Amino acid sequence: MSRSEELFEDAQTVIPGGVNSPVRAFKGVGGKPIFFKKARGAHLYDVDGKEYIDYIGSWGPMILGHNHPDVIAAVRDQALAGLSFGAPTELETRLAKMVREMVPSMELLRMVNSGTEATMSAIRLARGFTGRDRIVKFEGCYHGHSDSLLVKAGSGALTLGVPNSPGVPAALAEKTITLAYNNLAEAEETFNQVGDEIACIIIEPVAGNMNCIPPAPGFLEGLRALCDKYNAVLIFDEVMTGFRVALGGAQAYYGVKPDLTTLGKIIGGGLPVGAFGGRKDIMKHLAPLGPVYQAGTLSGNPLAMAAGLATLENLSTHGFHEALTEKTAQLLKGLEEKAEVAGIPFTTSQVGGMFGLFFTDQKNVDCFAKVMACDTDRYAKFFHGMLDNGVYLAPSAFEAGFISIAHGQAELDATLKAAEKAFARLN
Ligand code: PMP
Repeated sequence: MSRSEELFEDAQTVIPGGVNSPVRAFKGVGGKPIFFKKARGAHLYDVDGKEYIDYIGSWGPMILGHNHPDVIAAVRDQALAGLSFGAPTELETRLAKMVREMVPSMELLRMVNSGTEATMSAIRLARGFTGRDRIVKFEGCYHGHSDSLLVKAGSGALTLGVPNSPGVPAALAEKTITLAYNNLAEAEETFNQVGDEIACIIIEPVAGNMNCIPPAPGFLEGLRALCDKYNAVLIFDEVMTGFRVALGGAQAYYGVKPDLTTLGKIIGGGLPVGAFGGRKDIMKHLAPLGPVYQAGTLSGNPLAMAAGLATLENLSTHGFHEALTEKTAQLLKGLEEKAEVAGIPFTTSQVGGMFGLFFTDQKNVDCFAKVMACDTDRYAKFFHGMLDNGVYLAPSAFEAGFISIAHGQAELDATLKAAEKAFARLN
C-alpha cells in the first residue's frame, strides 16, 4: 500500500469520505486521491515522493505558481505581527483599493472568507436591495454551496427550481429559476413573464464548473440589458475568472459591467478569501450602513490580506496576462495535435489562463447539454494516463483547467510528452 493509500484509509475514519471537499475524492475519475506534502512553482510533490506538473493550482488561486517568494515573505512577516485581531487593519483597505483599481465596477467591496460566502451575501444583498425574492441562475454554473444556489432546473424554464441536495428547503429552491447557459431567448421569455419578481441574475461570465464554456457573443450584453429593463441586479460570479482571464476579470475581457461582482480564489493567493462588491447605491444597503446583514469573525484576516496583496501586486506586472494566455494557447494547441495524431476526437476551449478539455467530436461545446454529451469515461482514462506520467489534471471532466505563470517551456514540453502516451492508451 502506498503512503497516500494509507493516509486515505486513515482519513476516512474521521472525515466523511476522507476529504474536506467532495471533488478531491476522485469519484469522477475513479481511483484514490493522492496526498500531497509540498509544492513549488508548477510542481506538486506527493507523500510517496512522486512529482507532478500541476494544472489545478488549488482550483485557481496559485496563479503565480506555488510558494511564490513574495507571497511567502508577506505571510511570514504578517504572522510575526499577529494572526487575527477581529478589528480593522490597513491591509484590508489596501487590498480593497487594489481590487477596485483592477475591477472598477466594484465601487465598494467587502472581504469574506470563501467564494460561497461572497455569492451567498451578494444574493442576499440583491434581494434586500430590490425587495424581490426570485433569482435567476444558469444550468452548469456553480456558485458555492449556499441553499439558494444549490438548485437545479425543474422541467422547463418557469417551473419551480428543485433542490440539488437534501437539506435545501424546497420552499427556498422554488425561488431560484435555472435557465440554459448561452440561451438569451429563454432569459428574455422568463423576464417577459416574471421580470418584476426577479431580484438578480447570477452568472459565471465564463462558465468554469461545467468544463470551460465561454459566453456566446451578445449573451452577457443581453443579460445586462434585461437587468436594466427590469431593474434587476446583474451579478458576475468572478470567483474563478477574476484576475485570471484578464487583470480586470471577465467583465474587462468582454466589456460588460455588472452591478455586483463576487471574487474568491486568486484574491487570497492560497489563503481563504472571498469578496463581493459593486455599485455604491447597492453596497450601501449592507450593515452597518444599511439593513442587509452580513458579518465574519475572520473576514479581512491579516494573513489572508497579506497573501492577496502580494499575489495581486505580482500579477499586475506588465505582460502577465498576455504571457499566461500564450502559455495556455501553446498547451492546448499541443494537446489537440497529440490527440489528432492518436486519432482521438478531442477539442479544447480557452479564455485567458483558463481552459477546458473535451472528449467529443462536437466542434462548438457551448452549453450544459453538450458538455454532458462528452465522453467522461475517456476523460477518466486520460486523467489516469496523465497522472501516471506525472501530470495532475482536475479529477473531474467538469472542471476548468488552470495554468500558472510558473509553467515554463520545460513543463509544457513534459506535459505534451505525457499526453502523447496518455492519448495512445485511449485506443
Ligand atoms: N463561484 C465559482 C464560480 C466557483 O468556481 C466556486 C468554487 N469553485 C465558488 C463560487 C465557491 O467558492 P468556494 O469554494 O471558495 O466557496
